[in-house]
Amino acid sequence: MTLPAELNIVWIKRDIRTQDHLPLFLAEQQDIPYLVLFFFEPSLLEYADCSLRHLQFQYHSLQHMQTKLQPFGKTVSILYAEALDALQWIQKNTRIVQLFSYQESGIQRTYDRDLTVKAFCKQHRIQWTECQRDGIIRGLSNRQGWDKQWYASMHAPVTLNVYKKSAPIEWEHPFNCPPSFVNSLLPYPANWQPPGEDYARQYLDSFVQSRGINYSKHISKPLQSRTACARLSPYLSWGNISVRQAYQRVLSYSKEATHKRALQNMLTRLKWHCHFIQKFEMECSYEKQCINAGYELLSHESDETFVKRWEIGETGFPLVDACMRCVTQTGWINFRMRAMLVSFFCHHLHQDWRKGVYHLARMFLDYEPGIHYPQFQMQAGTTGINTIRMYNPVKQSKEHDPEGLFIKQWVPELANLPPAIIHEPYLMTTAEQAMYGVVIGKDYPHPIVDLEQSGKAARNKIWGHRSHPLVQAENTRILNKHTRKRGSMQQSADDTSV
Ligand SMILES: Cc1cc2nc3c(=O)[nH]c(=O)nc-3n(C[C@H](O)[C@H](O)[C@H](O)COP(=O)(O)OP(=O)(O)OC[C@H]3O[C@@H](n4cnc5c(N)ncnc54)[C@H](O)[C@@H]3O)c2cc1C
Repeated sequence: MTLPAELNIVWIKRDIRTQDHLPLFLAEQQDIPYLVLFFFEPSLLEYADCSLRHLQFQYHSLQHMQTKLQPFGKTVSILYAEALDALQWIQKNTRIVQLFSYQESGIQRTYDRDLTVKAFCKQHRIQWTECQRDGIIRGLSNRQGWDKQWYASMHAPVTLNVYKKSAPIEWEHPFNCPPSFVNSLLPYPANWQPPGEDYARQYLDSFVQSRGINYSKHISKPLQSRTACARLSPYLSWGNISVRQAYQRVLSYSKEATHKRALQNMLTRLKWHCHFIQKFEMECSYEKQCINAGYELLSHESDETFVKRWEIGETGFPLVDACMRCVTQTGWINFRMRAMLVSFFCHHLHQDWRKGVYHLARMFLDYEPGIHYPQFQMQAGTTGINTIRMYNPVKQSKEHDPEGLFIKQWVPELANLPPAIIHEPYLMTTAEQAMYGVVIGKDYPHPIVDLEQSGKAARNKIWGHRSHPLVQAENTRILNKHTRKRGSMQQSADDTSV
């Protein structure tokens, strides 16, 4: 029941898998026994970006990992503790020789936590090896050479983890998860994508073999994208699969596939994945501050009713409401609909992006800080360097859900409306409302804003601000730091991901 006199530790973060796992591989090479640890840290659980669905995905991914490691006498110890507290306690009871983990491109809070762990390791002469995560490079001051390095890491062989059978380390500690906490994670809800590396592989395989055939055609459709897109995002975000594993699988299949173009598009997006995280790795202040400081000068309305109605999907705009209710229920919607939700919130409702960013972070099962904050700001128009896109929700609705099937699924109170009416139910006459059994203001809300007026006001405000000297000065700084020359892949990731 006691710890060995000395040991190594593998700290699992957003890398809940057993293959292509360099920290586990390195620990396995050593002669010293090692513990595999995962921390549910109270200071992160209480933070604004965290939600039960993330914890459920993590917890059940860990259970899955557990079943893979158990035959080799290894377990993942899930501790309910601040990482530093737990490491200090372990150090008091044994001698930690080495700590292995992946680098984390997280929010300020996890960055600060890592600094305290680093200081602790230094103090106790513990060697902390932080391995590079996916194609994200630490310590860059600009993007020169990044593409090359990214391709090099995608084409490097995946780490083949082989586990030797060893005697399990039985140990007791004061950091067990409280039963009420564990109970809150059980059972795993059927409406979230199933967690774990086997499911990651299954989703990837079904995408490359069949589902991806309609990828390019259906990527923007709220309904069809649910099967045509890879749906790999939660697995990548929580590390059930590495970007390299996904990249190599898609690449090898694309050689013989008939839908080569679709698979090529998918490979491009895997690069965007890392491109956005790389930005955040270099500037995690993007969680709270406008990427372009010039946009801090813009004032916003602050209307709690608007925020609430957006959050619960009661804005009176059917596609907006359907998307919000769908993501609340399932944890996923496609890129275009995410962009539309943000655009509607920031432009049509005139709200500060910071008032909505955490809500969607909590709703997305695939929440990845490095993608979420830069993308949110891009759609909010606060980056300065990107074309400001304002999505008209009625136009989007008519184009991407012409029959209103997606709307009918998620806004059932509109299920009786024909396609000609469903996109703008507020235009119905009293007679039509009686005929279809939907009274606007009673069965379904009136629109909370006038779309045309609010769109025009937003355009004047935000486009007029583009020429402000501070915005311009910031643009130069941002381009120098986060992009290569024009026409490059980074540029297109910023400009065309719509
Ligand atoms: C406001 C906003 C917030 C977002 N927040 C997140 C987030 O927290 N986590 C997240 O993984 N994605 C986020 N995205 C990007 C994108 O919407 C999702 O990656 C995508 O919808 C995931 O579905 P998929 O796996 O089927 O993607 P596919 O289209 O099949 O693409 C495969 C993979 O490529 C990556 N990818 C695809 N599109 C993008 C993109 N535009 N930018 C960066 N990477 C991309 C993802 O890792 C994705 O899993 C956000 C987009 C917006 C507009």
